[in-house]
Amino acid sequence: MKYLIDTHTHTIASGHAYNTIDEMTRKAAQIGLPAIAFTEHTPKMPGSCGKLYFSNFKVLPREKFGVRRLFGCEANIMDYDGTLDMPDTLLEKMDIVIASFHIPCICPGTKEQNTQALVQVLENPLVDIIGHPDDSRYPVDFETVVRAAKQNNKFLELNNTSLKPDGPRSGARENDLCMLKLCMEHGVMITLGSDAHVEEDICNFSYAEELLKEVHFPDQLIANLDLDRFTALL
Ligand SMILES: [Zn+2]
Ligand SMILES: [Zn+2]
Repeated sequence: MKYLIDTHTHTIASGHAYNTIDEMTRKAAQIGLPAIAFTEHTPKMPGSCGKLYFSNFKVLPREKFGVRRLFGCEANIMDYDGTLDMPDTLLEKMDIVIASFHIPCICPGTKEQNTQALVQVLENPLVDIIGHPDDSRYPVDFETVVRAAKQNNKFLELNNTSLKPDGPRSGARENDLCMLKLCMEHGVMITLGSDAHVEEDICNFSYAEELLKEVHFPDQLIANLDLDRFTALL
């Protein structure tokens, strides 16, 4: 296993994913993955767990079956000022925080509005990663987003699920190519997220890898290849 962590996965707590934390951890161990991040959908996603779920992560062992585990969330961006559907007091307790646009939670705005939202989120010290910024239902100005990521030392995600032929986010390929080229130009780190909703998808980066190869993306800008550096930056 070349990769040291999958930074974006979901369990049954998210309401439309199908394995438990321990099933996912066991699968990670089986495929030789040293670490996994559980980033559950936050309360405004229909069917996901409530705030209380996120308040008790202290009881969960951070290592099991020889796999390091990070417990966090994929928070919903609720408006163009970058408001999230999780209070700061809870976000502070997360091992890892992704923030993303999701259709049930925010109507796509103009390119300027969507871009402004992501810039605000990137300036939020409690957020680590922008999840799937490649969704063309939410067009953004990638130059501005990449610069904001650089300025705030944040990660942009290359989401493998976005790139699946039956993926939910149209236009992802073109947007990701644009984002990757700008990340190379500005030295911004990306994370590879499988966005697994089932254990078989853990660390499935097959489509993402094709794009990385296509643009000759440098290994040193891929957070999943340097676990110590990644966790230090969280
Ligand atoms: Zn989901
Ligand atoms: Zn998402």
